[in-house]
Amino acid sequence: MDKNTSEYHDIIVSLRKFMAYPIILATHNEGKVRELQQLLSGIGFQVVSMANFPDIPEVVEDGDTFEANAAKKAREVAVALGKTTLADDSGLLVDYLGGAPGVHSARFAGPDHDDAANNRKLLQLLSGVPLQQRTARFCCAVAIVTPDEQVATTQGTCEGIIIDEFRGENGFGYDPLFFVPQYGKTFAELDSATKNTISHRGRALQKAKAILETAARKGNT
Ligand code: IMP
Repeated sequence: MDKNTSEYHDIIVSLRKFMAYPIILATHNEGKVRELQQLLSGIGFQVVSMANFPDIPEVVEDGDTFEANAAKKAREVAVALGKTTLADDSGLLVDYLGGAPGVHSARFAGPDHDDAANNRKLLQLLSGVPLQQRTARFCCAVAIVTPDEQVATTQGTCEGIIIDEFRGENGFGYDPLFFVPQYGKTFAELDSATKNTISHRGRALQKAKAILETAARKGNT
């Protein structure tokens, strides 16, 4: 957990109050749903996806930080459905670009563009920049919000380098350009289990899981 367990006291009390109900995963991305369900299995909470609630509109991600966006997504769904909700928000921060694309990672090349266009734009902006100056990190914030609006957020990061060619077929987004020196591979060359262990999202989710596990355990916080 990012903070002492005692700092999560209020949300842990609230999580226990609502434990009979499933936790909603505020995402329409089925890949994320599977990853989250796997990670959170066996901890005493049932976890269900937004696919069960087609009437809930997409939340507009207009915050300045990953934390603000994750909390906004989780809060809106938790209040609308009256159920504890978990949401995440993530992106890539490139040092040479002053932290861009950051919270704009998904729409870096424009609102109607895709991963390929985002990657092309990133390579153009870094064209001619030596490898030592291409340091970057993925960041993720996870928010858990209960129906009575208690909020807990956790963070995870993963450091890497933006290389100047595409490597690997796995994953999504900026994965083929994000090289992890420790493994000598890009995220797109790693198998999903390894990526989930070291990734920004995996790390933030492990911390969120620890909060849920504490709530599910009998006894004091
Ligand atoms: P979101 O958290 O799903 O909204 O992700 C925002 C954007 O950040 C994605 O569309 C990707 O462009 C980028 N991103 C976040 N996490 C990853 C990752 O693990 N690999 C590659 N790109 C990612």
